[in-house]
Formats: sequence, structure tokens, C-alpha cells
Amino acid sequence: MSLVKSLISSDKYGVKCPYKMTPKGICIHNTANDAPAKNEVSYMKSNNNEVSYHIAIDDLEAIQVIPFDRNAWHAGDGGSGQGNRNYIAVEICYSESGGDRFIKAEKRAAKEVAALLKQYGWTINNVKKHQDFSNKYCPHRTLDMGWQRFLNMIQTELNVLNGSYTQTPSSNQYQNIKVGSKVRVVGFNYATGESIPSWVKSNTYTVQQVNGDKCLLKEIVSWVYIRDLQIVSSGNTAPSTPTQPQSKRYAENGTFYFDTAVTVRTAPEENAKTNVVYYPGEHVIYHHVIVNKNGFNWIEYARNNGTTGYLKVKDLSTGESYGYAK
Ligand SMILES: [Zn+2]
Repeated sequence: MSLVKSLISSDKYGVKCPYKMTPKGICIHNTANDAPAKNEVSYMKSNNNEVSYHIAIDDLEAIQVIPFDRNAWHAGDGGSGQGNRNYIAVEICYSESGGDRFIKAEKRAAKEVAALLKQYGWTINNVKKHQDFSNKYCPHRTLDMGWQRFLNMIQTELNVLNGSYTQTPSSNQYQNIKVGSKVRVVGFNYATGESIPSWVKSNTYTVQQVNGDKCLLKEIVSWVYIRDLQIVSSGNTAPSTPTQPQSKRYAENGTFYFDTAVTVRTAPEENAKTNVVYYPGEHVIYHHVIVNKNGFNWIEYARNNGTTGYLKVKDLSTGESYGYAK
């Protein structure tokens, strides 16, 4: 996906990656220090220790050092060990102190690992942790924060890559298209494959028929894929003019479990930040929900200091949720 290659020179193969390998999966590590990926990589390239890995990832980049068809020395299970001889080693940086940089590095790692799973046709079962091979408590911070949580992050990214999970905010809009809806055409081709002339795009049309993922547009008697339409009005009996969806606040008691770091705010707006952060794995008991305020969905909760705290739970511009409610 967005791996930067900075491969080790072949005269170091004998020390760092002596064997040919057909990878069976991915083994996750934490570096247990606070160096960025590029420092990790230059250190590994410069020494002659029998310690190596394939990819180092921090919040900014993912760097590949060893080709995936060669082994690395990372799993602590020896020269004939399953881990050292079969698995692509991924090191996640900034694990010593943790915090925001580590959380971002881990998120980045989830994306890169998902891309590799897709590339090799693997599933989440092909993702192992160092501890699986030699009982070392590694990846230590990822384990502290929850291994299943990290696997879930990877699975979510894999679902996105496989298109089985659409996060586009417009997907709800598509579901609202029905007979009578007024739409604009924004795609390039009719369902027949013919290209759509530009004049067609300057008018609005009425949906006459819906069939699967296609619509028949009355005024031009043409079938168009729903994904190539933009809804202007939904076609209720009392046609409504398109308006911005309204923000709504309502009482709801629940517990929200975070999988992303979220800063507590004193109001549901960007600038009302406090120094308090909820980290992945933590949860909060909330009493109100605010939908669609300043680009986010929010929850309200009673803080220990007696004031009301506001936490973002979903970014409406990307569809990304920061955890889940129970
Ligand atoms: Zn490790």
C-alpha cells in the first residue's frame, strides 16, 4: 500500500536474513523504545547483530527493510523456528512511552497489515504476535491495550479494502433514492456504458423506476447506476427542498468503548479542548447523545469535577467511529 522501501544491502543478508522464505503470515512486535521508524531502520542496517525485522512503522511512515521472500530474526524461536522462518515481522514504534504517537503508529500498522493480508490473500488468522512463538511479552503495549482490539482494527481496515464495509457518508443518501426522487447525474457513464454528455449533468431528473443498483430517469429515459446519482430531494409526497441535516440532542444512557484516542471537550466543538484524553480500551458512561454537531456525533457525560464533558464518537466527514456503544 504505502510502504516505503529502504532495503538492506545484500552483503548484510548473511547476518540479517540468510534464508529464503515463503511467508505464511505476519508477526507483530512493539519496539519497546521511543525511536521513530527511520532511526530503527538505520540502526538495524548499521549493526551486525542477528536481530532484524521486515517493516518498521511509526505515525508518519512504514519502512520495509528486508524483502518478504527472505527471513528475519525477530521471533526468538531460533534458526528453525516457525516465527523466524515463516513470518513477516512488523515492528510498531513509540511503544515505550505510548500515548498519541503510539496510537497513531498502531492505527497505521493496522492499515499496512490489512494491505498485506489482502495482497497475499490471507485472513486475520494469519496475524500472529511475537508471544505466540517464544512467550516473550511482545508486542507489550498492544497487548496491554488489548490484542483482540488490535485484530479488530486490522479486520475493519481489511473490510474497507475488500469493499464489504462502506464508510462513505453518502451511502445513506443512496438508500433514500426511490421512485419520485429528484436527482442529478454526477457519473461519467450510463448503465449501458455509453458516456453521459455534459448537458445532461446540468438538469435534475425524476426517478421513474428502481431496479437493483440502477434507476430509470424519466426525462431522458435512461438507466443510470445509483452510485452515479446525487439526490436533490427524496420524493416524499410533500417534496422537501434540500436542507442541511439538523443537529439533534437526546437523552440516552449507555457505555461507550473507545478504540481511538478522544480528547474530552467542555462543549461539542473543536476549540473546547481539555487536557483529558480517553484512550483505546477505556470506556465512559454517558447520558446524552448529540447527532451531527460541527461535523461529528458526540456523547455527553458527567465528569468527576461536576461539569459536563463532551466526546466525539464519530467523524461524519469520513464515517469513522471512535469505538462502540453498549
Ligand atoms: Zn517482539
